[in-house]
Amino acid sequence: MAKIAMKTPLVEMDGDEMTRVLWKMIKDELILPYVDLKSEYYDLGLVHRNETADQVTKDSAEATKKYGVAVKCATITPNAARVKEYDLKEMYKSPNGTIRAILDGTVFRAPIIVKGIEPYVKNWVKPITIARHAYGDVYKASEMKIPGPGKAELVFTDENGNETRELIHDFKEAGVLQGMHNLEGSIENFARSCFNFALDKKQDLWFATKDTISKKYDHTFKDIFQDIYDNEYKAKFEEAGITYFYTLIDDAVARVVRSEGGFIWACKNYDGDVMSDMLATAFGSLSMMTSVLVSPSGNYEYEAAHGTVQRHYYKYLKGEETSTNPIATIFAWSGALQKRGELDGLESLTDFGKKLEQACIDTVEGGEMTKDLALITTLENPKTLNTEEFIAAIKRTLDGLMA
Ligand code: NAP
Ligand code: MG
Repeated sequence: MAKIAMKTPLVEMDGDEMTRVLWKMIKDELILPYVDLKSEYYDLGLVHRNETADQVTKDSAEATKKYGVAVKCATITPNAARVKEYDLKEMYKSPNGTIRAILDGTVFRAPIIVKGIEPYVKNWVKPITIARHAYGDVYKASEMKIPGPGKAELVFTDENGNETRELIHDFKEAGVLQGMHNLEGSIENFARSCFNFALDKKQDLWFATKDTISKKYDHTFKDIFQDIYDNEYKAKFEEAGITYFYTLIDDAVARVVRSEGGFIWACKNYDGDVMSDMLATAFGSLSMMTSVLVSPSGNYEYEAAHGTVQRHYYKYLKGEETSTNPIATIFAWSGALQKRGELDGLESLTDFGKKLEQACIDTVEGGEMTKDLALITTLENPKTLNTEEFIAAIKRTLDGLMA
C-alpha cells in the first residue's frame, strides 16, 4: 500500500518519561507505516532542553508560527527534585507556558467519548470542550493581609500622573485584600480563539461570567465577546448553523449539567481552572482528555492533557510491565494530521487521522483496553492489555479500517 503523502511538515515536539516511550511506539506502529511523515523534529525532552538552555522550546514555538500545526508530547515542568534528578543548569519554566507565551493562545480541552467509559452525568452523550482564558485575574494578583483598621483604595495613576481613586473598604478590623487585572488585548485574543475554534468544530460557543455582580470587570469580558461576535463572526456562525450564547455563570453551570454536551464552554481563567478539573473527572478519566492550543492567528498545537506518567516510567525503567493509556497522545497526532490535511487540502491525510481515532475507540469498545480504563469500564469482562499489546490491538483495528 502506498503511504499517504504530506506537503507541509508538522512541528514535532518530543517530550519526557513514559510519554516519550509512547511517542516512539505510536510513530513506529501507528503513523510511519501509513504516512510518509514530514516533520520538523524538536526534542523538548528535559535533557535536551538543558543542553540548549531551553532555546529548543522557543525554537519549536517559532516553528509552529511558521508552519501552523504542531504535535507535542508531555514534558516535565522542573521542580527542585527534577533539578537534582537531571542535574539542571536552572529550573526552566513550564514548556507549555513558554509556548503559550510565544503563540498567545487559548487551550481547549475535550474528553474522548467511548461506550463503556460512562460519564457520571448520564445525559452527557457528547463531549464538552472547555476553553480557559490563560491570562491575568487571580493568577496575576497582588494581595495584602490587613492587620487592623484603615482605608483601602484602588489607585490608578496615568502617564501624566493623574490619579483615579476608588474606595475598596474602610477597614474597622483586620482583613485581607486583593488587586487583579486583565487586558483588553488578551480578552480580544481569547474571544477570537474561541470563535475560530467553534467555527472549526461546528459547535455552539457558550460564555459566562459574573457580570451582574462585577459590573465593570466581568462586564468588560461580556462586552468584548459580544462586540467581536457582532462585528466579525455573526454571519459566519449563521452560515455554519451554530450559535454564540452568553449567560450568567450560575445559569451556565446549571445548563451544562442538564445538557447533552456537544458545545464549547469559554471560561475566565479561574472558572476554567476549576471547571476543567470537574469535567475531566466527571467524564471519567484524565488519560482520555485531549488538549489543543489555538492562537488568535490560527496556529494549532495538539497534545494530551495528562503529564509524563512518571510512576509508570520508573516501572518501565526497571523492566516491569506497564499498562499506560496512549489514547490522548494518539489523538494529539490524529488531530494534528487532520488539521494539516485540512490546511493543505490533503483529504487522504484527514481521512487517516479520523480512522486512527476510530481505531482507538473501536478497540476500547471491543473490550480491549489499558488498566486505567479496565478499572472503570461498564463493559463486562474487559481484557486488560499492557502498553505494547494495546498499541498492537489498535494497529489491528486500524488495519481493518484501512483495508
Ligand atoms: P500525570 O503524568 O498526568 O500522571 C498522574 C497519574 O494519572 C499517573 O500516575 C496515572 O495514575 C494517571 N495517568 C495519567 N495519564 C495516564 C495514562 N496515559 N495512562 C494511564 N494512567 C495515566 O501527572 P504527574 O505524575 O503529576 O506528573 C508527571 C510529570 O508530568 C510532571 O513532571 C509534570 O511536570 C508533568 N506534566 C506535564 C504536562 C504537559 O506536558 N502538558 C501536564 C501535566 C504534568 P496511576 O499512577 O494511578 O496509574
Ligand atoms: Mg486546576
